[in-house]
Amino acid sequence: MSIDALPKNNKHMTNAQLFERAQKSIPGGVNSPVRAFRAVGGTPRFIASAHGAYMVDAEGQRYIDYIGSWGPMILGHGHPAVLEAVQKAATEGFSFGAPTEREIELAEEILSLVPSMEQLRLVSSGTEAAMSALRLARGATGRSKIIKFEGCYHGHADALLVKAGSGLATFGHPTSAGVPAEVVQHTLVLEYNNVAQLEEAFALHGQGSGKSSNEGIACVMIEPIAGNMNFVRASVPFMKRLRELCTQHGTLLVFDEVMTGFRVALGSAQSLYAKAIPGFEPDLSVFGKVIGGGMPLAAFGGKRAVMELLAPLGPVYQAGTLSGNPVATACGLATLREIRKPGFFEALTASTRTLLDGILASAKEAGVPMVGDCEGGMFGFFFASELPQNYSAVMATDKERFNRFFHAMLDRGVYFAPALYEAGFVSGAHTAADLKATADAALQALRG
Ligand SMILES: *Cc1c(COP(=O)(O)O)cnc(C)c1O
Repeated sequence: MSIDALPKNNKHMTNAQLFERAQKSIPGGVNSPVRAFRAVGGTPRFIASAHGAYMVDAEGQRYIDYIGSWGPMILGHGHPAVLEAVQKAATEGFSFGAPTEREIELAEEILSLVPSMEQLRLVSSGTEAAMSALRLARGATGRSKIIKFEGCYHGHADALLVKAGSGLATFGHPTSAGVPAEVVQHTLVLEYNNVAQLEEAFALHGQGSGKSSNEGIACVMIEPIAGNMNFVRASVPFMKRLRELCTQHGTLLVFDEVMTGFRVALGSAQSLYAKAIPGFEPDLSVFGKVIGGGMPLAAFGGKRAVMELLAPLGPVYQAGTLSGNPVATACGLATLREIRKPGFFEALTASTRTLLDGILASAKEAGVPMVGDCEGGMFGFFFASELPQNYSAVMATDKERFNRFFHAMLDRGVYFAPALYEAGFVSGAHTAADLKATADAALQALRG
């Protein structure tokens, strides 16, 4: 395309025009598939700017934002302290490819809030963090096999794009073209919250046959509260049994807290399980989203003995040109320093509860079956009569109704995640008036 053919002023383009234009230069018009609104239909909103709890699209429409960039924006958009930290860091340099004091500060900040970890490494995305944790778990145990759960998302590393095979003896099938069957042949996919299946899987594969030293299960990776199937908690008995089985078989328990980390509680989801199960700790933890405050930043960590297996100290290779980026770490550090201030999480938790109670009350008044759950600043609701416990139950909830509700809310200026299997997020910037307006809009939408 010549420069003359480019639109002169995109300020007057509608969302639909932008979407059409985007599809010419970007596959599907988006840089991450869920943004394309395929699950709910319709035209994605192109966001021009965001302020506090609100986003403004290309047409100047304002929305109350319950996506928060899929979780990172726990303080709302453009929090003054974060903005100031980012602007200052940017003037000092964008990237050095050399260590900085700020990386130590961020690592210390995170470690002070998550006692299961003694060391961590910073990376640039949740995908990279989960992939690296997986490699480390395999390197540490000398084993190849891993377990994940249906409906949990751990980013798009090859070995984790997998769905269940037929029966527990067979390992998974790739869920994406371009992933060789050989790459997922070591990944066993189990049903979330199914204790009996977990026990069976460990009985079958936990020790291996003893014929080869790399048999047995390297790690189990889990979203402790699964936000990629909207909002499904791992039950306490399930988590307790999972921890016991991992310990018994020398398998590392990997908590993927990319979404739940610093979102469901200041100590992340693991602090909630530690309260319910004395002495509970995961072996490795994966973080992203909130710890970057909206910048590309993620981390994985665990006990020193395991983490020191990483290069340059140990044999497990892992690296990144932009890892620990100075602007991203400034953003994450400023965000964490705000959310650890006394009262922040209490207020966020109360706001989220108020929002969910308001939506559920509207559904009740409208005579629509709906259930929901929340923790800290994360929530989920389902058009169903009881809370789903696993992926197939989530997918059996009323999709048509969700999609109608999504659009009815969007039309009323409330932006929920555009798919029934995605969680919602409240920020410190949402006001009581925003939460009430949302519940009122829900009543109209559900009556309509
Ligand atoms: C978002 C997410 C990821 C992937 O993180 P990216 O930064 O998108 O690569 C991994 N695990 C969980 C639980 C997530 O929610």
